[in-house]
Amino acid sequence: MRLVLLGPPGAGKGTQAVVLSKNYKALHVSTGDMLRDALKKKTKSGILAKDYMERGELVPDEIVTKIVSERISKADAKQGFILDGFPRNKNQAVDLDRELKNLEISLDMVLYFKTSELTSVERLTGRRVCPKCGINYHVKNRPPKNNNLCDTCNVILVHRNDDKVETIKKRLEVYDRETKPLLDYYSESGLLREVSGNLDVDGLFRILQNLFKKENVA
Ligand code: ADP
Ligand code: ZN
Repeated sequence: MRLVLLGPPGAGKGTQAVVLSKNYKALHVSTGDMLRDALKKKTKSGILAKDYMERGELVPDEIVTKIVSERISKADAKQGFILDGFPRNKNQAVDLDRELKNLEISLDMVLYFKTSELTSVERLTGRRVCPKCGINYHVKNRPPKNNNLCDTCNVILVHRNDDKVETIKKRLEVYDRETKPLLDYYSESGLLREVSGNLDVDGLFRILQNLFKKENVA
């Protein structure tokens, strides 16, 4: 499958992408994760992206588009991929279309995780992340088995800097202004399917399984 996941921060795109990529053998391509990784490794793109990410703003398109294009052209993306966090504005969507054309492939579907602002904020403020494997937890909805430690890696979970209240507000604003217009863009191309991002992980996964079956996406 080749999917784009759209929706506000906190919609559960990353969590669902992990579940989907396990069950459907598609590569999970998260621009947020790749940028954080680049920052950790102190690459040029990582260093450039840092301030934007901390402020909750979009990292310049050239940086993000390059990272994604490189990733989806690799051999392990041939079986399929799930784009999580990209495209995030019209310019990136146009660039993605161009890149897909170059690779002679196309998207199967764009999934819109429609999510209430209350749910988004509540999830983001309670989110804790494993710095090693990247799995997300939530202090209330999905607590780790042992106090603040990753179930698989046993390392201390972190509260992302941009998951603090002021930055969350900014990210939601940026989403409304820059990313939401993509709903029209993909609805016009007939690719858009809306699901509820307010559901729990398993509930949404079941709905997606049915949707894929119905539309022959594998
Ligand atoms: P969320 O979807 O929860 O906001 P992400 O981990 O996807 O979190 O993104 C974190 C930050 O990384 C964003 O606020 C932004 O600064 C940067 N980023 C991620 N993807 C993109 C993108 N496609 N274009 C520009 N910036 C991006
Ligand atoms: Zn872990």
